[in-house]
Amino acid sequence: MSLLRTRTALAPMRRDAILAPRVLPSVDDLIAVERPAEPLHCLRPASIADAARGFVASFPGDVLYAVKCNPDPSVLRALWAGGVRHFDCASAGEVSLVRALFPDAGIHFMHPVKSRAAIAQAFFRDGVRDFVLDSAEELAKILAETQHADDLGLVVRLALPKGPAVYDLSGKFGALPDDAVALLRAARPMARRLGVSFHVGSQCLDPLAWRHAMALAGRVIAAAGVAIEVIDVGGGFPVAYPDVEPPPLGAIIAEIEAGFDALDLPEGTALWAEPGRALVAGGVSVVVQVQARRGDALFLNDGVYGSLSDAGAPRFRFPVRLVRPDAPAPSWHLAPFRFFGPTCDSADAMAGPFFLPEDAAEGDWIEIGQLGAYGACLRTAFNGFDRARIAEVRDRPMLDA
Ligand SMILES: *Cc1c(COP(=O)(O)O)cnc(C)c1O
Repeated sequence: MSLLRTRTALAPMRRDAILAPRVLPSVDDLIAVERPAEPLHCLRPASIADAARGFVASFPGDVLYAVKCNPDPSVLRALWAGGVRHFDCASAGEVSLVRALFPDAGIHFMHPVKSRAAIAQAFFRDGVRDFVLDSAEELAKILAETQHADDLGLVVRLALPKGPAVYDLSGKFGALPDDAVALLRAARPMARRLGVSFHVGSQCLDPLAWRHAMALAGRVIAAAGVAIEVIDVGGGFPVAYPDVEPPPLGAIIAEIEAGFDALDLPEGTALWAEPGRALVAGGVSVVVQVQARRGDALFLNDGVYGSLSDAGAPRFRFPVRLVRPDAPAPSWHLAPFRFFGPTCDSADAMAGPFFLPEDAAEGDWIEIGQLGAYGACLRTAFNGFDRARIAEVRDRPMLDA
């Protein structure tokens, strides 16, 4: 028996058979029947499958879902139902999860700094062939741990200058242009297929960001003077929030296609995208309960250490709606509120403002939408608030983005 045990920080979310599974309820039904005292994650598999179907139909290449965004098996199955067949994984855990669910899925290991054990396990046990890198050291590591396999896909991740995205991802990964040129030349003889990737940053509202990144990729490829089989335009595809109207997906794809055509690569060069947020944000909302009201502050049973971390320092304003199954009906007049989470940390605060009926009170429930991306997966067990439950519902999401 091993001396080491794996311990997860979180108790898995409880999937009690809340109502007879044949009768998929609406969120309002669930609240009326369950009166949930703990945060309740409401998963809409049909809406996730629709979002996936739309993206797969519009994108002129392979769609790799970025698993970190929401690795819940029901979410992954809904994406598969919507036509997603490729997964962008960043850890041995994500790779094994996807392989266990989908024996035929394409798995691409897209983290530029991998552990040696994770590379070997992905290659030899889980059949992964595509690996990303942004340094000569990582290239050497991949070659050593795959025993210099002759069927590798090697993708060089480019650094991008800081762009317009809400979450800048330029600070950590990616090779500068000169280094990328050297890496492409070094990787070429070792690769069955060679690629270039980048990530414009998460929730990127400017379609031109992809066009500019594509042009940079073109300059690097031309300088390297080597053949390329894959261009991977990363993630960052935006979704709607109450104060944010994203450009239509078609406008972003048009820039990607124009940028791709301008590279004038040989017929058959593959185009990949790695969307996360855009596929799953709308598919999960979280029902929370108000535990106290002080002026315009509502104290909730979930917060930035739970599923609302983006409402904290990043100040996302999620769509909210008050649900009060009993009389009196809530006021028609809306007022701005801020939220506090349940932990003892004063950083567990969400400025909003969130517009709710002006008479919002202790005991009311609030449905918070657009939490399918980077919501459940960022929860912690801090202060013992790790008892969220999950249910599947089939009503429409709060925002149709
Ligand atoms: C997080 C991440 C994604 C997904 O980004 P979204 O903004 O959620 O679309 C894609 N690729 C890589 C390499 C990532 O780290």
